[in-house]
Amino acid sequence: MSEVRTLVIDGHDVAATADQTVLSAARENGIHIPTLCHLQGLSDIGACRLCMVELEGSPRLVASCVTRVEEGMRVTTVSERLNAYRRRVVEMFFLERNHVCAVCVANGSCELQGAARDLGLDHFELAPLHPEVAVDATHERFVLDQNRCILCSRCVRVCAEVEGAHTWDIQGRGADARLVSDLGTPWGSSTTCTSCGKCVQVCPTGALFEKGRSVAEPKARRPYLPYLVDHSRA
Ligand code: SF4
Ligand code: SF4
Repeated sequence: MSEVRTLVIDGHDVAATADQTVLSAARENGIHIPTLCHLQGLSDIGACRLCMVELEGSPRLVASCVTRVEEGMRVTTVSERLNAYRRRVVEMFFLERNHVCAVCVANGSCELQGAARDLGLDHFELAPLHPEVAVDATHERFVLDQNRCILCSRCVRVCAEVEGAHTWDIQGRGADARLVSDLGTPWGSSTTCTSCGKCVQVCPTGALFEKGRSVAEPKARRPYLPYLVDHSRA
């Protein structure tokens, strides 16, 4: 049994075990922190930077999904500084690819769209990059549309950690980073993919979807993923 830590989150006294993250402790106590790459049951990697919080005594923001609770910690999850930071993070996700919600299969159920709405992001201040990226429709049942991919790596982790197939990886860095199957083989020619569909179910946007899905058709099988192993509490 892990030792108990007491901390303060947004003015509330919270008890958590030493192995819990700040995100997990907050959620267990009904305190919402937005995330895009976190998913219960998968390892946390702090990729999306949306779950950043303020720690008293620390000049920098920290990712709550990969920060362990500590005794006496004082955490702030809502502030003008955090809102501005999160709005910029979400804006960058939109601008780095080509997100045209009106013609997207995930319109209405997209977690990126939901984060933008929750943060009041109603216009962009920076210019879009409009990269030319590929759509891979070679799989008999599923499609990867890189235009909608935010590189959260949920698909990479669920495929490796739950299905054990390890089909996906992220190749390249920065603006050139791309999701690839079998180290660059078209998805339809993958020798590792079992066609289980787990990656499609965990994708927060319309980047992975089942063939035949129409624009804005709800993802009927969320919520969600009973096969995920509950090792991360929240
Ligand atoms: S369908 Fe299953 S095995 Fe294939 S890439 Fe997705 S998660 Fe991996
Ligand atoms: S395809 Fe979806 S789940 Fe995979 S990295 Fe891109 S946005 Fe995340």
